[in-house]
Amino acid sequence: MSSDHIVGIDLGTTNSLVAYMQGEAPAVIPGEDGLNLVPSVVALDEKNQVIVGNGARTYLIETPERAVYSVKRLMGRGVEDIREELKLFPFRLADDLQDGEVLRIKIGERTYTPPEISALVLRQLKRNADRFFGEPVTKAVITVPAYFNDAQRQATKDAGRIAGLDVLRLVNEPTAASLAYGLDKNKHGIVAVYDLGGGTFDISILKLHDGIFEVVATNGDTHLGGDDIDNLLITIALDDIRGDLGLDVRRSGEAVQRIRKAVIEAKIALSSQASVKLDVELPGGKRYQREITRKAFEQLLQPIIDRTVGPCKQALKDAGLKPEQIDEVVLVGGSTRIPKVRQLVQDLFGRTPHTDLNPDEVVALGAAVQANILGGGSDVTKEMLLLDVTPLSLGIEVAGGVTDKIILRNSTIPASATQYYTTQVDGQTNVAIHVLQGERELARDCRSLARFDLKGIPPMPAGMPRIEVKFLIDANGIMHVSAREQRSGKEAEIDVQPSYGLTDEQVENMLLASFDYAEEDFRQRQVIEARREAETILAALAKGKKNEAWPELTSEERRKIETLEKALAEVKDGDDYQAIRNAIDALNQGTMRLAELMMDSAVSTALKGKAMDDTGIEEGQQAGHPVAKADFE
Ligand code: ADP
Ligand code: MG
Repeated sequence: MSSDHIVGIDLGTTNSLVAYMQGEAPAVIPGEDGLNLVPSVVALDEKNQVIVGNGARTYLIETPERAVYSVKRLMGRGVEDIREELKLFPFRLADDLQDGEVLRIKIGERTYTPPEISALVLRQLKRNADRFFGEPVTKAVITVPAYFNDAQRQATKDAGRIAGLDVLRLVNEPTAASLAYGLDKNKHGIVAVYDLGGGTFDISILKLHDGIFEVVATNGDTHLGGDDIDNLLITIALDDIRGDLGLDVRRSGEAVQRIRKAVIEAKIALSSQASVKLDVELPGGKRYQREITRKAFEQLLQPIIDRTVGPCKQALKDAGLKPEQIDEVVLVGGSTRIPKVRQLVQDLFGRTPHTDLNPDEVVALGAAVQANILGGGSDVTKEMLLLDVTPLSLGIEVAGGVTDKIILRNSTIPASATQYYTTQVDGQTNVAIHVLQGERELARDCRSLARFDLKGIPPMPAGMPRIEVKFLIDANGIMHVSAREQRSGKEAEIDVQPSYGLTDEQVENMLLASFDYAEEDFRQRQVIEARREAETILAALAKGKKNEAWPELTSEERRKIETLEKALAEVKDGDDYQAIRNAIDALNQGTMRLAELMMDSAVSTALKGKAMDDTGIEEGQQAGHPVAKADFE
């Protein structure tokens, strides 16, 4: 047997865990303290040694400036994106942070990016697994929320790499939870995954076909979870203490922390008991004691858990489903241990949810199942290999040799996306569709997958055709590309196999290259786009000079336009982006009145009922690449 253990990791907002396949069933790997959950908290001690998990929690209380938590909220996000989080969480950003720069968080005197902090949590999990197996573990599957975008997924992968893990795959958390319950073996059906954790609520609707999970809708609340219940109980306790004992301990950090610890214990106990006794010794010797019944507790938390109903209904609506169409309901997240929450979910979906597995472990267990599949572990699971995301972006070449991405890297498959394009020159009847794979900005730096032509477009002025390019990656990983000119109905299509022949190493190299060259690519793309814009303007001006509006300008105006025209023609083939840009802007400015006059005459032509064929547009010779066009009339 190979010593290549592949582990499954749930990198959570509140807690993280690592699991592996123990024979036929997945199991969680405990830490040195014997506990399965590793709190996603990182602290630096006085000697700047990193402490992760339960040990770091004490720092959160005693020296909060030396600890961070909930870093998952910041993964793959920019300074501008996280204003909301900063209002609610005591994240301390690095002082010298510029707008647009990668976020850095201060812990003590040091600063770390969110992936670096997550990597510290991952490294702790890796260490637990290394100790468990008695040898280093290097490969992992990591879970991410289904709604995570490309940047957030990339940041998670980066965290894995920083921690010394080869991240074989990112799996959506609800998919992992479904896998843990073996729901993939049903082959077909609709699964609702209700995930109420420490600080976030997610509802996902998955469609299962041929053993593949497709996320059809997600919704939730990024600030709703067990923390809200804790805070409510703390507030009540503080009020009680003031009323009954005449003490105001709201400003005593130590008292509040003792109360927090006690109410969390009480909350957890109430998930399995009918009542619990709160007993907190306050600094100064007084005691706060109170009996809480489950009934009273349930009344208190009702408004909190009711906030999950709206997102569930919205997700069903977005998926176009009625509650009775849901076949399976899966509970995820520690807070779904609360019986009242289970009841609510059952009422909402009219189905008894799966509860056999620990809700705070189920995602990691599913990640271990996926890890086992990737390791070629068992025959039954082999056919599910395609539970996958696209490793690289897919797109087409557009005018100027630029790549236009249509399906982004790490999209779950099956996936489909549509983009609209138009032609570059008047009378263009052929459009060359060049299908590309890769992250680079320029077509020549990406991998060419296929070429085909969309032919027989009736001659129209440049910019008039509306070409719909549709990409679809089916459950078998086969890519299907079609192009259709919507005004004439002409279409062409092709099947391509994107991953064929591309090794992981090549994928890796392409990814690395895209980081190395990102800046250079960007500059080149800018120049190409400006050049293209210049050509379009010059062509339009050439047409304008033949228009009946041209003689209506004063000779002074015409001379000025021609000077600007010459200036643009001179710089447009150079590499100086700013010079091209300035010349374009100047010419645009200078031809404003001409454009207005032309517009008037075009409107009057249209009113006279001239047909398209009479516009003097001839059939072009050129079969160019399409031009990206975001919005049509
Ligand atoms: P996350 O996915 O956000 O990392 P978890 O799924 O581990 O978090 O859920 C953590 C939350 O679950 C905490 O608020 C914790 O207090 C709560 N929790 C754990 N066990 C119970 C229980 N038995 N009853 C009620 N709440 C619980
Ligand atoms: Mg979770």
